[in-house]
Amino acid sequence: MMTKIDWLQQANKLTDEIVRWRRDFHQHPELAFKETRTARIVAEELQSLGMEVQTGVGKTGVVAVLEGASDGPTVLVRADMDALPIATEINTEYASQTPGVMHACGHDGHTAVALGVARMFAARRDQMKGRIKFVFQPAEEIGSGARAMKVDGVLQNPRPDVSLGLHLWNEMPVGELGVASGPVMAGSGDFEITITGKGGHGAAPHMAVDPVVCAAQIVLGFQTIIARTLDPLDTAVLSVTRLHTGTANNIIPQTAVMGGTFRFFKHTVAETIQRRMREIVDGVCAAMNCTAEVQIKLTTEPVANADEVAAPVRRVFEALGVSPEHFHNYRTMGSEDVGEFMTDIPGMFFFVGSANPERGLNYPHHHPRFDFDEAVLPLSAGLLAAAVAHYVMDEA
Ligand SMILES: [Zn+2]
Ligand SMILES: [Zn+2]
Repeated sequence: MMTKIDWLQQANKLTDEIVRWRRDFHQHPELAFKETRTARIVAEELQSLGMEVQTGVGKTGVVAVLEGASDGPTVLVRADMDALPIATEINTEYASQTPGVMHACGHDGHTAVALGVARMFAARRDQMKGRIKFVFQPAEEIGSGARAMKVDGVLQNPRPDVSLGLHLWNEMPVGELGVASGPVMAGSGDFEITITGKGGHGAAPHMAVDPVVCAAQIVLGFQTIIARTLDPLDTAVLSVTRLHTGTANNIIPQTAVMGGTFRFFKHTVAETIQRRMREIVDGVCAAMNCTAEVQIKLTTEPVANADEVAAPVRRVFEALGVSPEHFHNYRTMGSEDVGEFMTDIPGMFFFVGSANPERGLNYPHHHPRFDFDEAVLPLSAGLLAAAVAHYVMDEA
């Protein structure tokens, strides 16, 4: 039985529904770990489709398993539900009604698209082998929702064989796709360093130990980590984004505090960056008679697409009629905590171009005027459904 389903056409039939969900979530955005309204609507919809639904997974996450008629692989479909602390500057009829909170990253669209995919498969479960585990995660924007769900066992019972997900992406117009194999989004870490010297009078530096000069040398020293320590073929970023010290022009302060972020694709690179940061801080502080307290923490895993998943998914997209000239080996040093799932479960996280410059729908993610072309919603649902179907349906 070779039932060839046109998933883009099936998704198009659900356009009104998906757009309605998306606009509703957009009007009622919720911050990380506070996605209770969104989670309730998601859970009710999945229950109405006859799925067994778990709520409160990773605080406000929702998990539902759609069982097929026969045995087969378990496919994790991931969507994120949280919004951002941004006051909206869009004035469409579906603009945010919650002051200071806005879906400025497209997670409203991701949630709506995954609900659309759930609907498409719920109507075809008798043709399905294996199962789909729908994972609606909270708190992506603070990089902790996926981990919270993992701690609550989202990757067990059943353990997924493959994970699939997407991000609407305003750096590309609708119709363009980011479908690279290998690392596509960076892992990230944060740091905070407190340098302590000895305060004193600005006119008597010889009586003090100046933490400002020490901090300045450390900032410059850090610039050599990427440029002089790492293999030039390894990609990484290290940015000192905060440097706070001092209270008055005639006082040498007691302490200086600096903070920032680093991004990487490989764990060995992250280890080297952390080691060199500590060595530079220790060495400069020893030379400048200061002491330092260094706090470094890894926040998100790199997002790496497994070629054994990405390659067949690209073929599935081609079979849907997407010409490979629209495929891009897109990578970004931005981070996404879906990497937390994909470190354990081989998968594919792809970018679906969502901008429409002619309509002014091309503001970047996290901008108060962020919005996207809703034509991307049925397109994304069709692409994601086709990728899922590759694993859970016998298709020609
Ligand atoms: Zn975001
Ligand atoms: Zn996002």
